[in-house]
Amino acid sequence: MLEYGWDAGVAISRFLDGLKAGKILGVRCNVCGRTVTPPRAFCELDFKPIDAWVELPDTGTINTYSICYITWDMKPLRKPQIPAVIEIDGTTPRAGFLHLIGGVKGSSVESIRKQLRVGMPVRAVWRKPDQREGAITDILHFEPVRGRRR
Ligand SMILES: [Zn+2]
Repeated sequence: MLEYGWDAGVAISRFLDGLKAGKILGVRCNVCGRTVTPPRAFCELDFKPIDAWVELPDTGTINTYSICYITWDMKPLRKPQIPAVIEIDGTTPRAGFLHLIGGVKGSSVESIRKQLRVGMPVRAVWRKPDQREGAITDILHFEPVRGRRR
């Protein structure tokens, strides 16, 4: 048994506080101009500190997704989980945000694939404000925005 503590760090702490308030926060690098979320303290391209905070919308597009019928510890799932990389609107392309897709009918690969596609617009579905705890799970999942074209 290994015990350890993990400090979320200033950037992630502020991001989690934002989630509790129903906001997705990101940071903008003043050197290369990229906007990314989840926030990080340093730009991995410039190795310079980033401290320009921006409030982002809770919408984006699906960059890629996967359909998982087992949990991380190998338990079977009747209703699959759909982890996805989401491009949050207002961030630099491929600054991907990892979350789950929900609001999809059926549980077969065929039915799910008919409802989802790369580039599809999605919106965050939030927990009720009094149920949020400053965690990534304050967003339950993202779901397709129907009838919205881009
Ligand atoms: Zn940069």
